[in-house]
Order: sequence, then structure tokens, then C-alpha cells
Amino acid sequence: MESSPKPPEMRTEDQESLKSFLEIYDFNPQILQDIFDEQARRSGKERSNIKVSVDDIKVVRGLLTGLARTKANGEISIDIEKLEKHVSVIRALIIINMKEESVEVRDLVLKAAMHYLVIQTITHELGHVHSSNVYTSYPEMRTLQSDWGYETTRLNQDTNLKSTINNALNEAVTETLGREIYHEYSKRAGDSFYADVGGSFESKLDDFLLETTGERGRSYENLVRTFDLLMEHIAKELEVPKEKVWEAFKQGYFAGLPAISTWLMEISSFLEAEFPKMIDTDEGSEEWDPEIFESKLKAWEQSQSGESMSAALFAQLFEEKKEA
Ligand SMILES: [Zn+2]
Repeated sequence: MESSPKPPEMRTEDQESLKSFLEIYDFNPQILQDIFDEQARRSGKERSNIKVSVDDIKVVRGLLTGLARTKANGEISIDIEKLEKHVSVIRALIIINMKEESVEVRDLVLKAAMHYLVIQTITHELGHVHSSNVYTSYPEMRTLQSDWGYETTRLNQDTNLKSTINNALNEAVTETLGREIYHEYSKRAGDSFYADVGGSFESKLDDFLLETTGERGRSYENLVRTFDLLMEHIAKELEVPKEKVWEAFKQGYFAGLPAISTWLMEISSFLEAEFPKMIDTDEGSEEWDPEIFESKLKAWEQSQSGESMSAALFAQLFEEKKEA
């Protein structure tokens, strides 16, 4: 092992620039807080009492991976260098896509795209903060386990070896939720214009970033699309609207669900292999084809003995919800 990586650097002026950026948009953390509380309550979790405050968001330089991260203690950091890089990519995208438009129009679109980039990133990270977080100790196995949303990490206390599963699924759920809440926030805050215009750059951003910088960026687009296919598949099989499946996933995310853990155990090996590889790695740039994912999902299901996994296992989830 080489020397340990440098901790991300913090500068007062960076902290100030995030603050003044959010002030330009009249960012209202209370609205965001209310939406998270409503969502969590609808999922059977009591008021979370998690405060959303701009002062608590750390602005750093040199995060190892990703544009932002949330620590287990709920501390959110955003990497301003990476943010700036993304903004310059968006600027280039606007110039390429909007050659005919006036400078004023292009500036307005850039402003909208930045609204999306920054506030949606904060919303995504707040999703992690609000998700169910359970720590379990297995002294006989010398193992500590953390279940965070859909992600499970095990740490062997003797060897210090860490293993994580369902990280991609958890990111997919977090991002889908983050986008939904971001749009609701924008509506309530009267920022819908920014959200609609800015959001249209999201799907272009990943590909363009990869093309121009060789970096995968946030790379959540494929995760979200894959997760959407997974939900569609389950909905079809259970003959329920996709919205219902999404509600169930949210319930599991916020409140934690024993029923879904069986389902997760069954499907996690498949998801680990077939979900788009994680964010910010070179592997993440591999081609992703929705049709291939779907056919693999079908093949995997057929290879499972007995009943269909979605029908048998996910049904439990709906049962639990009814009783609750
Ligand atoms: Zn995340």
C-alpha cells in the first residue's frame, strides 16, 4: 500500500461561493426538509428530524471519487473542482447545441443547468442521509455490518477487509429519489423553469463528459435507466402500476424492510454483475444496452428454481405495506 490519500482540502472562499451561489437561487432548505419528511412519513418512518442546512455542507477539493459524498455520520461534502469541471462541460454543450441563440438565452440555460447540477446533487446526498441506516455487530464472526439504504457493507475486524454489495442498486434508488424530490422542490420553490431546462442537460452531460475529458462524471443516467427497467419488469410480473413498485422501493429505502432483504439476497448476485459498473471508474464507461439488460434479467429469472422471484418475494413487501 502506498501512503494514504490526502484528505480533501477545505477553503473558506469555496464555502462562501457555494453559499452565494445558492443565495442567487433563493435556495430554501426548509422546503427540501418538508418534502423529505413527507416522503419518509409516507414510507412508515416518523419525522426524521434531520436538519437540512447549507452550513453543514462541506465544500472541498480533491474528493477521491464522485462529485459529492455522504459519510456514515451524515456529513455531506461537495467537490467544487469537479463541480467547476462539470459546469465548463455544460457550457461547451450549450455552445454546441444552441449556436443560433443569443448570449442572453444561453446564459439563462447555463443558469438553469447549474441549478439542476448543484441542487439536485445536494438532494441526492440528502437521500443518503435520510435512508435507513442500521449497524449490526456479529462478534462470533468478528464482523461489523452496516445496512445503508439498499447497500450492505461488512467489515472483518481481524483482517480489516471490507466488502460491499448492492452499492449500484442503492445509488440507483437514491438518484431516482433525488430527481423526484428535486422536481418537487423546484415546483414548490417556483423554480420549475430551471428544473425543466436544466434537467434536459442531464442525459447529455455524462456522454459528453466522457467524450471530452474521459471521465464518467456522475454517471447516474445508466443506473437510473436500469433501475427503471427493473421496476417495469417487476410491475409487469405483479400486474401492478410501476408507481406502486416505486413506492415499495421507497418504503424499503426509508424505513428498512426485512421482507425485501430476502428478495435482495436472491437478486443481488445478478444485480452486482449486470448493473452498470460503479460511478467514476473506467469500468463505468462500458457500453450499456437496455435490451441486453432486459434479456439477461429474464434469463436469470428463468434460471431460478420455483416461482418467479419478483412475484413471490416482492409480494411480501406489498403485504407488509397493507398491514402497516
Ligand atoms: Zn450517492
